Amino acid sequence: MSIPLDEHSQPDLQALVERAGRRYCALIGEVYVEDVVDEKGNKHPPLDEKGNLKRPRHQGGYQHIMPEEWAEYDRAMAAWQEARRHPVQGAVVADDREALCICGSPGVYCRPRKGGGRSIWRCEEHRNNWPDYAEDIPLREPAR
Ligand SMILES: [Zn+2]
Repeated sequence: MSIPLDEHSQPDLQALVERAGRRYCALIGEVYVEDVVDEKGNKHPPLDEKGNLKRPRHQGGYQHIMPEEWAEYDRAMAAWQEARRHPVQGAVVADDREALCICGSPGVYCRPRKGGGRSIWRCEEHRNNWPDYAEDIPLREPAR
């Protein structure tokens, strides 16, 4: 049993949920209703014109994650957090402390600090959440 990781090697709950949903669909012989992928490659839940989820409730993967998977996920998350607190000297650490968002996620968008100093980073979710001391410039596109 392995836990899917995101591009920052962080255990990826969304991917785990999706995997469980797909597994359940395979089990009952249904076709999984796929997420919608936008032009930037981001996934969104499939919605109809009224905004209702097109994926049937029973295909939602969260409920189908097995206890062993939760246990493994918790272990992987604890290991990831521990590794982030104590980076191995010389190891390539994807999430440089100075490039972290306020929520602790790796920063994707960066703005200079007024008057110089460390840059300020924000993740995708907090991309509009900038302090007064951030330079008010257009956001840089995320690196791909
Ligand atoms: Zn954030």
